[in-house]
Amino acid sequence: MIPVLRFPERNKVPDFNTFSSLLRITAKYELPNVRSQLLEVIHDAYPDTFEGLAPSKSLGEGIFSGSTPHPNAVLNLFVQQKLTSALPMAYYMASRRGLDSLMDRRLPQSATLSPEILQSAIRGFVTLREMELKETHRLIFGSRTSRPCSSSKCPSLKAAGPRVSEAHLKVFDQITDSSQPGTKVLQVLSLGDICGDDCHGFCNICAEGWEVDHGEVRKKVWTALPDVFGLKG
Ligand SMILES: [Zn+2]
Repeated sequence: MIPVLRFPERNKVPDFNTFSSLLRITAKYELPNVRSQLLEVIHDAYPDTFEGLAPSKSLGEGIFSGSTPHPNAVLNLFVQQKLTSALPMAYYMASRRGLDSLMDRRLPQSATLSPEILQSAIRGFVTLREMELKETHRLIFGSRTSRPCSSSKCPSLKAAGPRVSEAHLKVFDQITDSSQPGTKVLQVLSLGDICGDDCHGFCNICAEGWEVDHGEVRKKVWTALPDVFGLKG
């Protein structure tokens, strides 16, 4: 009889090396019960639906006990193990740190990406960064008439002039610069964290409106991930 393999502790995800070994063993020796337990953990941290991305949840490589693995190592494991539904998120987690992280030559072999994976990841990163700039531009400079401002001092109320553009531009720059050298396009937008309490003079209603609308941007980008990383078909 096959001994029942369990996580060291209930509800506790093992460290990445142990987790990887378990995953490989369950494939090699056909242990579907243990494997489905491991896949559940992955499915939770690397969701395949937008709803699975709940901001309060611990996602990605942060779920493993011990030292956090490099996202490239996680991506390699998922590709080897053909965990198709987790791949868009795993590619995103590796790419969001930017090109230097994807191409880092000092990483151990387990975290070094093959030319094929690297190509998909770089292409995907460039596309995501373009989407981030384009969508943020639309968000900040696009016409917003649905939400009235509460403050008479808010730059968005004044007639369009050089001052207004400057305030808008500052917000735009801060959102997009905060992502360098990677991308934060899937992260929940918090203008308070990015531009401080006064947000270049914009009222709370404007700031909150941008934060809410940014949810649509996240959704759009999330839906595009399989395409962006060439995982379709
Ligand atoms: Zn306002």
